Amino acid sequence: MSKRRIIQLTVITILGIIVFRFFIFPPKVYDSSKTPFILRVRLKRSVDTFTLYSKGKCRVTDAEKGAVLARAFSFDGPREVSPAKSGMKFGQELFPSGDIRISPLRGKLLVVDGRPYRGEIDVQKKDKGFRIINRVKLEDYLKGVLPREVYHFWPFATLKAQAIASRSFAAHQALLRKNQDYDLTADTFSQVYGGQASERWRTTKAVESTAGEVLEYDGKVLPAYFHSCCGGHTQNAANLWSQHEDPLRGVKCSWCRWSPYFRWRVRIPTKTILEKLKEKGYSFREIDDIRSGPRDNSKRVEYVRIRSQNNWFEVSTEDFRAALGRRLLKSSNFKIKKYPYYYLFSGYGWGHGVGMCQWGSFGLGFRRWDYERILRHYYPGTEIVNLSEVLRKER
Ligand SMILES: [Zn+2]
Repeated sequence: MSKRRIIQLTVITILGIIVFRFFIFPPKVYDSSKTPFILRVRLKRSVDTFTLYSKGKCRVTDAEKGAVLARAFSFDGPREVSPAKSGMKFGQELFPSGDIRISPLRGKLLVVDGRPYRGEIDVQKKDKGFRIINRVKLEDYLKGVLPREVYHFWPFATLKAQAIASRSFAAHQALLRKNQDYDLTADTFSQVYGGQASERWRTTKAVESTAGEVLEYDGKVLPAYFHSCCGGHTQNAANLWSQHEDPLRGVKCSWCRWSPYFRWRVRIPTKTILEKLKEKGYSFREIDDIRSGPRDNSKRVEYVRIRSQNNWFEVSTEDFRAALGRRLLKSSNFKIKKYPYYYLFSGYGWGHGVGMCQWGSFGLGFRRWDYERILRHYYPGTEIVNLSEVLRKER
């Protein structure tokens, strides 16, 4: 065979291998099942001291510099974490860093103040104590969220709809807060997260059977807000947070009547209202009358009018609810009736009202709607896609 022929054959073979490899094994893209999406959940904002424990050995690193401080640290029982001059102490063991990451070596759980968590724990020394952050895979996080957000014995379609809404909300927060110190808190400000101890078999199944699925709108992950009970119509996010998203404009819902808070009434003494408003910085000397202002298309009151010393003042309903307590004044869809020493508020629903109504989703699941249909109703115009697809497009 001539030299030229050998070169030709070699070039053809190499080109063939490249083409074959490209078509048979396309270039790798992000795959959420292989490269887990890690969330940073703030468990505690500021504590003076707490206990930490793990059954297995853990690697301890300086989270900022990446230096390994202990390759296989053994807890031998719960250890009290306390501040030290040059770092922090786990029991008697001193670690010379103010930002420590503890990573279990064999996937064992880390127990913070008696509560077990999956993933890693970051302990950050701040001026007024420790901030504790759980670095956890998105799917593991959801297993600890769902049973705290919905009842685990609810219809399976409702649980799956909740899994996708919670996953979308969490992923959206994480993408939005990339440059912040953490992505989510473990309370109602984000989603209630109870760690591994909260997990239930059916909710875990709902997370696993929708693994990676999120709501997409306009090429992005939707901030899929949800709330307990809408009281008849969900709220437009633009009215509440000036957030203009087509799927969050509000829809009718006639399936949440089984919620114990579909209708509620509360009596609040005039004296208490005055005190609470003063605490929030309002300078009313007295309150002579309170009336509801105009209502939006979901029947929520936009602001309340307060008469004091012969003048009427407007207070936004959200500020009014925040002052009196959101657990007391459960929603902004209410009527007000004046009595000699108190006001009677009678209203509908519980929560901010944006996005999916959880009790409505329960009602629909009970009526055998599937989870896709439930989600399409509360978030119109969205599509259910895999998170990895959205991330690929966003890049
Ligand atoms: Zn509803």
